[in-house]
Amino acid sequence: MGAHIRCRVSRPVLFLAVLAMGAAGCSGAGHGPSSSAALPSTLAGDSAPTTMDAWTARRERMVDSQIESRGVADPLVLEAMRSVPRHLFVPADLVSDAYGDFPLPIGYGQTISQPYVVALMSEALHLQPGGRVLEVGTGSGYQAAVLAEMGMEVYSIEIIPELAAGAAANLAAAGYPSVVSRAADGYWGWEEHAPFQAIIVTAAPDHVPEPLVAQLAPGGRMVIPIGPVGAVQTLWAFSKDAAGELVGENLGPVRFVPFTRTEG
Ligand code: SAH
Repeated sequence: MGAHIRCRVSRPVLFLAVLAMGAAGCSGAGHGPSSSAALPSTLAGDSAPTTMDAWTARRERMVDSQIESRGVADPLVLEAMRSVPRHLFVPADLVSDAYGDFPLPIGYGQTISQPYVVALMSEALHLQPGGRVLEVGTGSGYQAAVLAEMGMEVYSIEIIPELAAGAAANLAAAGYPSVVSRAADGYWGWEEHAPFQAIIVTAAPDHVPEPLVAQLAPGGRMVIPIGPVGAVQTLWAFSKDAAGELVGENLGPVRFVPFTRTEG
């Protein structure tokens, strides 16, 4: 215990912008089992590019039209979003949609978040390269890759073992072998690697898990959607002060998949 949470609503412009767009983090039900990383041309729909340059062009367009235009300005985030091959983190039959302005199913009822939400959450962590970040909810591994591309030391936990294995394969194939991941209930954090400069939670619990608060370094940031299962939640960015108190900033309404538990 010990940490107090004081919440204040701020950044009304951003709040409204997110509301207007109906930001989707990790929402919607997936269909079918997860596929592993996809190659650009084969198995893809008609509109999938066949060269790396074409994928790069899609990423440029994604950043310009979906991310920078909505106010994400951190150069580290923008550069990472321009670099990470998102199409290697979506199922093979969906590669032509990899850079679309929406979440995509990755199997097991889970989703890879909308690119804008990945960028928004990454920026809200206020990262300094070289720091240690914990992600709860590895999913496809895409968010972890973005954080690694930003120069962070990334630890990521996924509760569904099949997704954890798929994410590890995606991260290796995309060139991010440094990301350390495991299959476990992320409610408990990852004590042996704490403290973390930042913690990002990409599934929505109904409260802030106390172990994550304890494992956040003083001065650190935690970005987490909180709210009822299957409904609209609130995206919070918390800062931890030297006294261990969390101060929260409301980043607006979002819709994430539920934070699940392996035990009571
Ligand atoms: N960050 C992911 C998005 C994942 S969707 C990406 O970039 O693709 C959220 C993920 O959180 C799902 O894969 C879900 O299985 C996982 N999850 C839900 N509850 C969890 C928990 N208690 N611990 C770890 N992972 C959890």
